[in-house]
Amino acid sequence: MIISKNPYSGKELKKFKELTKTEIDEALEKANSRFSSWKKTSFKERAKLMLNAAKELKKNKEEYAKDISAEMGKPISQAIAEVKKCAWVCEYYAENAEKHLADENIKTDAAKSYVSYEPLGVVLAVMPWNYPFWQVFRFAAPALMAGNIGVLKHASNVMISANNIQKVFERAGFPEGCFQNLVIGSKKVEEVIRDKRVKAVTLTGSKPAGGAVASVAGEEIKKSVLELGGSNALVIFKDANIKESVKTCVMARFQNTGQSCIAGKRLLLHENIADEFMEEFVKQVRELKSGDPADEETFIGVLAREDLAEDLEDQVNRSVEQGAEVILGGNRDKAYFEPTIITGVKKGMPVFEEETFGPAISVTTFKTDKEAVELVNTSSFGLGVSIFTEDPEFAANLVPEFEDGAVFVNELVKSDPRLPFGGTKISGYGRELSEHGIREFVNCKTVYFN
Ligand code: NDP
Repeated sequence: MIISKNPYSGKELKKFKELTKTEIDEALEKANSRFSSWKKTSFKERAKLMLNAAKELKKNKEEYAKDISAEMGKPISQAIAEVKKCAWVCEYYAENAEKHLADENIKTDAAKSYVSYEPLGVVLAVMPWNYPFWQVFRFAAPALMAGNIGVLKHASNVMISANNIQKVFERAGFPEGCFQNLVIGSKKVEEVIRDKRVKAVTLTGSKPAGGAVASVAGEEIKKSVLELGGSNALVIFKDANIKESVKTCVMARFQNTGQSCIAGKRLLLHENIADEFMEEFVKQVRELKSGDPADEETFIGVLAREDLAEDLEDQVNRSVEQGAEVILGGNRDKAYFEPTIITGVKKGMPVFEEETFGPAISVTTFKTDKEAVELVNTSSFGLGVSIFTEDPEFAANLVPEFEDGAVFVNELVKSDPRLPFGGTKISGYGRELSEHGIREFVNCKTVYFN
């Protein structure tokens, strides 16, 4: 049984029976046979349906957001914003997929030679609970527009949302089988990847889950994309605009109750401005409103599951044992974790080395720019970094120094359908979104006419 439970009230919301072997087989057969007709549809036809999906998301955003919020504790205003962002990615690919995947003529000694981008077939998406809609739509919109078919294995705690996503595509008029939610637990993922009808897999989630999925895909020689965790640094240089950077850093760490791969988890402060920055930062974090996720005024909800809050508590406690200091928050009540600031954090401490997936930020000071870069790059993660400085030339010169998949200057790291998204090191490989994302699951076919 897969159980969806409200992490704020503790109440069970719905029970789901896992698909049997025969039901999985039927779903994959439906997906595969749909591919033979779907791949022949025009971009125009696909775009029409994708725009319908965007309309459906906008029209029923409150309905979908309510389920997201109930299932994983996200404050309702942030859940509505998430559903709206999904409409944006649908519109973006409806408008741009044809351009991204147009044939590319290449001059050679042939009479004519070009590259054509063709769909692969059925793609499995293994997705997490932190943005139950967004993580799926940023895969599904480009995949379907490219002519692929999507099958979803969503996180077990957000199955209501998973079914709602299938409903969005059905209501938009996509032919049956174009996008299906498979109600299965993680143990059944391997057999789906190994199935001949499944051509590729994408996963967003933790390193262990990513490693498990990628090794099966590797054995089967199937393409995989991994979008794993992050431990992004927020680097405040001595010339930064303190007022603006404090505001941005509060959002970078605490939105979505801290449960985001691209959240700024490690605050690195130049020692000259550390006191001034911290005075304002602590004040603003203290003012964040915790409460019932269903309340429109709430900014900090609960973590998606109680065990996730326990993990965070353990990371904070172990760091304190090693000499760090909690100067705000630090307490847990079931799935709720107080907005927390930990100072005196050094390399080697859990809150510096591991991904902290909740409302807790580590603070470390540095003396030189070189030291700041070294602190950023020492992380095993490589999703993104935000740097704060009033000197654009200094920032531009630093960009090549960072090993991450993204550098944002005077801004929090955020996803945008127009820009590629993905990491280096243990944050994964491959890219989502933009032209780069839609080209991950296509056959880049060389065509040569003599
Ligand atoms: P997981 O990575 O375990 O879950 C993500 C998805 O992977 C879920 O659909 C899960 O299914 C599935 N999964 C898990 N293990 C396997 C496996 N061995 N084979 C195939 N599929 C698998 O995340 P958790 O919920 O356990 O969260 C743990 C930590 O992961 C967080 O604290 C955070 O650090 C990180 N994380 C990162 C995210 C990101 O955005 N990069 C998102 C979520 C978590 P099921 O739910 O059925 O187990």
